[in-house]
Amino acid sequence: MPKNLFSESLVFAVDLGGTHLRVALVDDNGRILKQTKQETPKGESAESVVATLVSAAQNWDTYKQAVVATSIMVPGAVDRDKAVVLQAPNLPSLVNYPLKAELQKRLGWPVFLENDANAAAVGEMWLGAARGCSDVVSVTLGTGVGGGVILDGKLWRGSHGSAGEIGHTTVDPFSGLKCKCGNIGCLELFASATAIVRMTRETISSFPETSLKSDGLTAEKVYDAGQKGDELALAVFKRMGVYLGIGLANLINLIDPQIIVITGGVVNGWDLFSGDMYRQMEERAFRTTAQQVKIAKAECGDNAGLLGAARLALQD
Ligand SMILES: [Zn+2]
Repeated sequence: MPKNLFSESLVFAVDLGGTHLRVALVDDNGRILKQTKQETPKGESAESVVATLVSAAQNWDTYKQAVVATSIMVPGAVDRDKAVVLQAPNLPSLVNYPLKAELQKRLGWPVFLENDANAAAVGEMWLGAARGCSDVVSVTLGTGVGGGVILDGKLWRGSHGSAGEIGHTTVDPFSGLKCKCGNIGCLELFASATAIVRMTRETISSFPETSLKSDGLTAEKVYDAGQKGDELALAVFKRMGVYLGIGLANLINLIDPQIIVITGGVVNGWDLFSGDMYRQMEERAFRTTAQQVKIAKAECGDNAGLLGAARLALQD
């Protein structure tokens, strides 16, 4: 591969999700030169994840000279200095595993590790909806609800590495619903894909006319039904939008960002939940602030995290 086809520096970027493992070669202009996606090795040892990454890197041997770092994002809390996963409910085998040492030994590049929602925030600031902004919050609505905070152009990780966990801020202490973090009434229990499925099941008996069935229910099916006017689906997305709006109003009063970027698969339901989301924000946040904060859908799609992970490695 002639070198002039890409910039000097490439990052071997890894999106290590609970379901899918994606690997990409990203250059310093944010171009994705190569990309693969497969299922994350399930319930197996961390070694099988490492072996998968090593074999992906070997497939791209022709680019090897230009790679400057491995940068991995995971859905969980990380110790960035040691590049160790501290907590990841969907990737238990990686917790406390010496990922940095193993990958550095086998691939040779410096290894960086970042929380996936943080990486997505950086990706959207670099090449997405938050381009040109320096105070950015990203909220990821997926299986769970994640968040990333950028202040003055810098990712704010917090004193203990857990800043931006908007999904685990309390929005309903009387719900009786326990979150996997141990708290009751977290935003994640009302605004994630998992929550949409649960809330649909909870109320299905009150909507005898619904076309939805409890078995095999997914957030996409609820959305599709809502688009056709299904009352149950509409009620669920309305509820989701109300809780999300409460969470965003709290964020606005706390951080006063220029922009809040909403990412993740549940964004596809935008037309069904955004009306209630905006209403809650306007009612609950400081009026003049809420009117000025921009709320935008993500522009980098699935790639926000990979791009952000690459950017963070290139900056370091
Ligand atoms: Zn929680």
